[in-house]
Amino acid sequence: MSLLPKNVRTRLTLWYVLAFTLLLLFYAGISITLVYINLRNNLDDQLQQDYEIVENLIEILPDGSVRIESEEDPYFYERWFEVRSADWKLLYESRPFSGKSLPPVSQKEKTTDGIHFHSLKLKNDVAVRILSGKMNIEGKRLFVRLIRSEERLWSELNGFLLLMLIALPVTILIAGFGGYFLTKKFLSPIDEMSAKARRIGEENLKERLPVKNPDDELGNLALVFNEMLERIQKSFLRLKQFTSDAAHELRTPLTAIRSIGEVGLHGNKDAKQYREIIGSILEENGRLTHLVDNLLFLSRADSKAFNKRLAPLELKSFVEDAAEFIRPLAEEKNQTLAVQSENEIMASADRALLRQALLNILDNAIKYSPENSIIIIRVDLSESNRALIEVKDNGPGISEEHLEKIFERFYRVDKGRSREMGGTGLGLAIAHWAVAAQGGKLTVESKINKGSSFKIIFESYK
Ligand code: ADP
Repeated sequence: MSLLPKNVRTRLTLWYVLAFTLLLLFYAGISITLVYINLRNNLDDQLQQDYEIVENLIEILPDGSVRIESEEDPYFYERWFEVRSADWKLLYESRPFSGKSLPPVSQKEKTTDGIHFHSLKLKNDVAVRILSGKMNIEGKRLFVRLIRSEERLWSELNGFLLLMLIALPVTILIAGFGGYFLTKKFLSPIDEMSAKARRIGEENLKERLPVKNPDDELGNLALVFNEMLERIQKSFLRLKQFTSDAAHELRTPLTAIRSIGEVGLHGNKDAKQYREIIGSILEENGRLTHLVDNLLFLSRADSKAFNKRLAPLELKSFVEDAAEFIRPLAEEKNQTLAVQSENEIMASADRALLRQALLNILDNAIKYSPENSIIIIRVDLSESNRALIEVKDNGPGISEEHLEKIFERFYRVDKGRSREMGGTGLGLAIAHWAVAAQGGKLTVESKINKGSSFKIIFESYK
């Protein structure tokens, strides 16, 4: 189980505080180091000055001992230094502070040429900074050590450290509170969105999430969510419309069957009249079956239950076969079904689905075209070099306002006429889906009184 709090706001604040603390510690570390280096450099500068002064004031007496000129100078009362000979013997010592003694000259001091600085702690825990240097005075080589206490350096550094120790937690606390309120402010749109989203249901699907700033990430999230709601609302409305249309369509033949049955029950009829009544009932039943078959087809299409099997298909023989199948319907109206195909054209298609689409289009062409007219089925290549099947009729045509809607489910230009002819308003919706399912496109061109042309254009051809 994660130890991190579940609340995003607290988590963000914690991360922020952690990052901020690390940054502050890093900054404090660098500052303290710089302050230390600066203070130590100051101390070294002072030692260096002392060294130069001492160098100018050393006087070598004839017996080889060392004297410091102007020894009375108060400056020297407070300076701690010693002068040794080249063999490290103490020649002079100024030690203003009693009880403090320097350790013997170290190997490093002995071997280093010129000036050398180092810090050390005396026995009584006093930290000192030592400058050791070798100099030539009147041809004599001398070793000088100057000592200054580091007490002030450490007290200043400790003061600075204390300041940091007090300021750091206070700053972190302020940053933490600031961070918490900032994240609260920034995340408040999410709270508003989730409260709104929780209230959106089936009955108020048209409502949308608030979008405060469409340009930021949260605004973008709300926009994407709203687009999704739009899609859900549309498909919900489509489904609702489809269910109500389907119920309506089913009611018509059912009412017809009921009325015909009631007429049959009424009074005495002869065998011929009963046969007519049964015939009418069977006819309505046929319509019902056709409608239910179409509804089932679309429901399977919607649930993607079709196993499409795309395979190379030779279009000329395929179209001739479909035309042969539907020709009896055309012959009833004395219409001519003509197949035009010059070249052998192959397409990648699902034979059963394509047949269903083509038969629906041909059925419409026969249904809506006048008697004695010609319906042409052309197999060819489109302008963009794709396989194409065109069904062209000399029927009444479809006006522009209806043209874009005829592929919608249950859409009919003339409801009464379509039903009279056994239409369900689903034929073109099915054809459109079946062609699209194979990666193709079903288009229509039509003008009132100038006939219609339906084109199935395939994705590719071989
Ligand atoms: P229906 O079962 O009513 O034929 P469709 O989905 O097959 O339903 O067609 C939708 C509507 O498009 C039809 O009602 C008809 O008004 C119009 N339509 C389809 N094909 C043709 C055509 N070849 N000529 C004229 N109108 C057509």
